[in-house]
Amino acid sequence: MKNKISLLRQQFQDDIKEVSQTKDVEQLKVKYLGKKGVIQEFMVFLRDVPSEERPLMGKLVNDFKEEVSSLCEKALQSFHDIETSKAISQERIDISQPGRRHFLGRKHPITIMRNEILTILNGMGFSVQYGPDIDSDYYNFEGLNYPKDHPARDMQDTFYVSPDYLLRSHTSNTQLRVMETHKPPIRIVAPGTCYRNETISARSHVFFHQIEGLYVDKDVSFADLLATMREFWTKLFQKEMETRFRPSFFPFTEPSMEVDIKCTSCEGSGCRLCKHSGWLEVAGAGMVHPEVLKNGGIDPEIYSGYAWGIGIERLAMLKFGIPDIRMFFENDVRFLSQF
Ligand SMILES: [Zn+2]
Repeated sequence: MKNKISLLRQQFQDDIKEVSQTKDVEQLKVKYLGKKGVIQEFMVFLRDVPSEERPLMGKLVNDFKEEVSSLCEKALQSFHDIETSKAISQERIDISQPGRRHFLGRKHPITIMRNEILTILNGMGFSVQYGPDIDSDYYNFEGLNYPKDHPARDMQDTFYVSPDYLLRSHTSNTQLRVMETHKPPIRIVAPGTCYRNETISARSHVFFHQIEGLYVDKDVSFADLLATMREFWTKLFQKEMETRFRPSFFPFTEPSMEVDIKCTSCEGSGCRLCKHSGWLEVAGAGMVHPEVLKNGGIDPEIYSGYAWGIGIERLAMLKFGIPDIRMFFENDVRFLSQF
């Protein structure tokens, strides 16, 4: 039996030299290691071997079995490697093929405008704060000096979600929250979306974007507000901007004013954009009302402040020459891809 095994080993050594592809190795495995293979036959013979010789014979058969399977695996691996490198070497890059087209996202004009405004105001020392879109009547109206049934509430047609909660009608709802949580000096801007129940037209929409500014400290004067406004518009349009201030009314500021800039289209001579007045209304502003400071936990005897609000759509329309506010929200790619 010992001789038989060594003959078979010789036979296997010859066989394995002959293999030239994966299939040959698989066949060898069946021949030697399969259920009806030669090694299995030896297992059957082992039963007839005298018991004192059986361990030695068993070891010989096992060693042979291991030798066969390890050499077969090695052969399989080397064929696999050869096939892989062959596949790689056959790969060709056709540089004349057109590339895949990538579609790059763009920033929405409202985002571009907002970022530009915030960058300027950050540079002037204002940090950014955010308020909630859904807020209580108190933060949006009552705390800002709009008592219930005050006629000024009619200036803004508001979406109520419950008797006490509403979609904020201006970003001024951030003012009190900041005053309650920060000690003066307070120097913040609050960008965000506002909602009003208005008829949608080329000039107004049910939602739009504002940036609110608030500065509270000792000795803040009306002159500081005028200077801040002038500097801001000059920086935004990158040229000396003539400004005009007209008295107005907002419940949360006293005195209040509307801010106009010299028409960007006709430089003041009168055109359709400025309705032939030569001026464009661009912001509402004023000194923070003492009642509002009190509601925010700030002593109006010691501190004073100013606030203003600007509409981002309005500025983007001026800057990019967009005639209709609805274009911002229609998501027409032909429009959006121009920015
Ligand atoms: Zn004009």
